[in-house]
Formats: sequence, structure tokens, C-alpha cells
Amino acid sequence: MIEDGRITEVDSGVRAADVVVDGNGKIALPGLINTHTHLSMVLLRGYADDMRLQDWLQRKIWPLEARLTPEACYQGALLGSAEMIMSGTTTFLDMYFNMEEVARAVKEVGLRAFLSYGIIDLFDSAKAKVEQEKCRKFFDYVQSLETPRVQFALAPHAPYTCSPETLVWAKEFAEKNKVIDHIHVAETRKEQADFQKQQGARVVEFLDKIGALSNRMVAAHCVWLTKSEVSILAKAGVSVAHCPVSNMKLASGGVAPLPEMFDAGVAVGLGTDGAASNNSLDMFETMKVCALVHKAHRWDATVLDAQKTLDLATIGGAKTLGIEDQVGSIEVGKKADIILLDMRSPNLNPIHGKKTVISDIVYSASPANVDTTIVDGQLLMENRQLKTIDLERTLQTVSRIADDLVRG
Ligand SMILES: [Zn+2]
Repeated sequence: MIEDGRITEVDSGVRAADVVVDGNGKIALPGLINTHTHLSMVLLRGYADDMRLQDWLQRKIWPLEARLTPEACYQGALLGSAEMIMSGTTTFLDMYFNMEEVARAVKEVGLRAFLSYGIIDLFDSAKAKVEQEKCRKFFDYVQSLETPRVQFALAPHAPYTCSPETLVWAKEFAEKNKVIDHIHVAETRKEQADFQKQQGARVVEFLDKIGALSNRMVAAHCVWLTKSEVSILAKAGVSVAHCPVSNMKLASGGVAPLPEMFDAGVAVGLGTDGAASNNSLDMFETMKVCALVHKAHRWDATVLDAQKTLDLATIGGAKTLGIEDQVGSIEVGKKADIILLDMRSPNLNPIHGKKTVISDIVYSASPANVDTTIVDGQLLMENRQLKTIDLERTLQTVSRIADDLVRG
């Protein structure tokens, strides 16, 4: 039972209510939480693949991003939101630009999100001031939307694109305003090697040394960490957004040391990263790939089981974002962010019992099994029909925008 956006009762009985959702043959799950993405990047999906990272960024992605208009980012956010709702994601942490338009789209469609403008100062103090001002403006804009579903987050892009001054400014702004400090950390081997050469320190050691770490930080990737850096993150209370599909596709090399993070008590959530480097926003795929990559890497099938993997995509994601008292599980008093999976599908049968349902969800389910998506008590999709997005119109508009983008 849901009242005023919150769960008021959890049982399997039928009650009289204003709106009744048919749960026959379906199971309810907490909505999935994507802790690192770049929503409007769906516009670049499939445009350039199978390239080396630097070539891919410099020759393909950055030139196209330079031409993205606010309207393009708005339409991209609508398309990305449709994909999220249809694949069971109810909350996400985003980083991109033209974020006012993204915020407007997210408010309209009803998803829960933490939105950040990605600061890149390239070690230029004049540029840093302009970027900080853009952040402050976006902070004010998000407050003006007056919906607790859409929250501001800060995002210095990465330690290799932002000066130490900006990284520390971000930490202080995040603490003062009680917001997330969202950043890419130790994603590639090259980044790690360059840091070692230029700073004489590893990436996380460097961030610790300049005083940029805090328990407000959500660090995406964290692939290239030593055990002692994991301890530094744990001590500082930094959370990690693990993005296994993107890391594998971009050949970042290495595998994020998840077992060590668990042992050290670091909060870990799962992320897809942007659709240019994934190429979907599918959290079911991310769960499966996550479990498989760690099993393969450690030669140990027990290193990450189905329940733990599902937890990473739900309550683990909520802890990563600091909202575990609000979402991440189906409990009385929590926000009603719930998805229904239709279990009457060949890929989810037979069902051997409650425990194997978790295996079905992690190893066999797909977005096509998501029947209903509810956020804050509002139906965003029912019987696979989107309620807040005109999908046909969005597909047409995005197709036109993508044609213009590619043609230049
Ligand atoms: Zn990213």
C-alpha cells in the first residue's frame, strides 16, 4: 500500500485503493539505482565504438559534444529517462552539461535524480572561476524546481581535468551545502601512470594529500587502486560507483577491487556510465556483468553472489548516494520507488523457490521483464506503457537531432 508517495503497508493482500496495480504473476523489487551516468549521452550511442580511448574521445566524442545544444540535451534526457523507466531504474546520479535542460526533463518525467554539472578547468584559474559560477547557478536552478526528487550534486570531472584548488573547492562546497561530490577517479591505467610520473603519487593518495576526499564524495570507477588506497577511501568515507561494463568496453584494464572495498567497509553502488561507453543504461546487464567479471577475475564463483549483486544495485546504491533511509528497499515508511517484474516469461522459468528468484533476477532477467515502474508513488510505466513520456515523439525528435549532429 502506498500513500502520499510512501509505503504504508507491505503484504500480499488486496486492499481498496484509488489506484490498484495488478501484481498477479509479478514480483515487486526496489527500483534499481544507477550511481554513475551521463544521461544525455544517449544521443551519442553507437556513434563510435571499438576505438582506443584517447582516439575515441578526441576524434569522435568531444567534437560531437561541442555541438550539443540545450534542446539536444533535453531531448537526450527524455530518451535516456524512457530507457531507465523501461529497464527498472528509478534513481540515478548524473554528470554532464546543459544540466538545466536535463533537470527540466527529469522533473517532468518523474524519476529521482542527483544532477551535476561536470566542471573541467584544465588547470586554468580563470576558467575555474567561470566553471564554479556555472555550478552555483545550477545549484540555484535546482532549488527553484522545488522538488525533492531532483537534487543538485557537485562534479569536478576528474583529478586530471581539474586543478587541486577546484577539487578542494568542490569538497568544501559539498560539505557546506550537504550535497554529493561526484567525480571520476582512477579509471584507466594511463591516468594512474601519468599521476605517478607527474605527482609522484597514486591518484587516491594525491586526492588524500590535497584534502579533497570526504564522505560526500561518490567516486566513479576506482579501477586502479592499491589496498592501501582502498583503506584511504574507507577512512575518508568515500563511496564508489562501480561501472564494470564501461570499464570493460573502454579497455580500462584491471578490475576494480570490490572484495577489498567490501572488507574495508566502503559503500559501493553500480553504474552504467554514459551510453557512449556502455552502450545502454541497462542495470540488469550491469548486475550480471558485475558478478561475472569478479568471478572470472578471482577464479572464485563465490566472490560475489546473486543476493550481494542485487544489493549493490538497490540498497548499496542508496547507501552510496546517502539516501538509504529513503529508498533502496521495500519497507514501511520508505519512498515508494518500486518496480514489478513479470515472471511469466520463458527466461524466468521455472521458479524453484524464493532464493532462486534472486538468481533469476541477476543472471537471467532483462529490461523486457520490467512491467511497471513507480517512483515516489507515481506510476511512470504500467504494463510497459510509459505514462509521462511520449516515446514516439521523443524517438522522432532524437533521430532528427542525431542526424543534424553527425552531419555537423
Ligand atoms: Zn563517467
